[in-house]
Amino acid sequence: MGKQEDFVLRALDERDVRFVRLWFSDVLGFLKSVAIAPAELEGAFAEGIGFDGSAIEGFARVYEADMLAKPDPSTFQILPWRGEGPSTARMFCDIVMPNGSPSYADPRYVLKRTLSNAAKQGYTFYTHPEIEFYLFKNQPEPGVEPVPVDRSGFFDHTATSRGSNFRREAITMLEQMGISVEFSHHEGGPGQQEIDLRYADALSTADNIMTFRTVVREVALSQGMWASFMPKPFTTHPGSGMHTHVSLFEGDRNAFFEAGAEYQLSKSGRQFIAGILRHAAEITCVTNQWVNSYKRLMGGGEAPSYICWGHNNRSAMVRVPMYKPNKGQSTRVELRTIDAACNPYLAFAVVLAAGMKGIEEGYELPAEAEDDVWSLTDRERKSLGIQPLPKTLYEAIAVMEESELLAETLGERVYDFFLRNKRAEWDAYRGQVSIWERDQMLPVI
Ligand code: GLU
Ligand code: MG
Ligand code: MG
Repeated sequence: MGKQEDFVLRALDERDVRFVRLWFSDVLGFLKSVAIAPAELEGAFAEGIGFDGSAIEGFARVYEADMLAKPDPSTFQILPWRGEGPSTARMFCDIVMPNGSPSYADPRYVLKRTLSNAAKQGYTFYTHPEIEFYLFKNQPEPGVEPVPVDRSGFFDHTATSRGSNFRREAITMLEQMGISVEFSHHEGGPGQQEIDLRYADALSTADNIMTFRTVVREVALSQGMWASFMPKPFTTHPGSGMHTHVSLFEGDRNAFFEAGAEYQLSKSGRQFIAGILRHAAEITCVTNQWVNSYKRLMGGGEAPSYICWGHNNRSAMVRVPMYKPNKGQSTRVELRTIDAACNPYLAFAVVLAAGMKGIEEGYELPAEAEDDVWSLTDRERKSLGIQPLPKTLYEAIAVMEESELLAETLGERVYDFFLRNKRAEWDAYRGQVSIWERDQMLPVI
């Protein structure tokens, strides 16, 4: 038993922990949880806790269903919303097969494998997500238009804002769980909020996003509201994205930084962006995995629709934020496509793989977009070589089906399951007759 395991076993007594929740993610990014008694934990560290993998989305075929969840002691935290004494703790798990080998279906393993490929070349991958979501007055009901909790807009400060009370409590809980928050504010839509997590290595950030979604939902419920990360809940209000700032470090040196270079961006920084752009269409199915994701990427609401990069250009898909002199270590690239309804493990894995491909193959970075690319005509964009992002889940699936990079990064098991699941979602969606269609057609034809 290692030091961290010992620390956790001691903490069980000191913190009067009655339940230990083992957390992991299914292939679509939904949190799964099984509670064990504290007495089971020593065995869980040594061998894992067995469960039926075939009951989890994308995990196993029925004939190879036995799997084990092995808790990662470095992720031990008390759940603040469950109260203290007795308390409930949680740990994220790695999923292993009965013979001890990692499960190829475990999204956390997909990210770990991609991180270790980058580590072989000397790089650590850091991410910093800006997470947007809506707060509604009520729990969703089928066919009922959701009502946001306020009518405020971007950065608004109002005296009786339910949003700011909400943010204060959510942020306090996140910090109690060791998750640092850098920034928070009201976003552009009514009831829409944004909370930005401090940058950390990508595995910690992905775990933190899973925790974040849970905390936000719990706090909303406790305050009589409903929180949702749905990418585009309203036709007429902005969607919710998860802009993610990414950087590579070599030891404690930011590998994207080069003093004196344009925008302080090193050669590997430029190649990394080139990789993301060249593989942008392929990775979109994972960074934006729902039918609804593409309604956010339609243009407007500050969400990107075209594959291009820019310096301080918010219409670009990849943005190099304005740099501050002497702040070399914070040099980074903001990817604006990702939405918060993604599986963060898989999304970070495919973004890193695309960027690393740019470095490995020495891709050339195309010219930056200086204009507002939303307001250009198709012809103007074409002459600048700016391609559109996939316009629907269907298009995204079609590009992913041809992508070697995605097959390699996700591994055959996750790649096949993901595509099968997304094709089924698309088929279910395209068969739906919508209110919009009826309103357009019944009166006239
Ligand atoms: N809500 C916008 C989106 O869907 C982003 C707004 C912002 O620039 O923060 O991407
Ligand atoms: Mg925002
Ligand atoms: Mg941003």
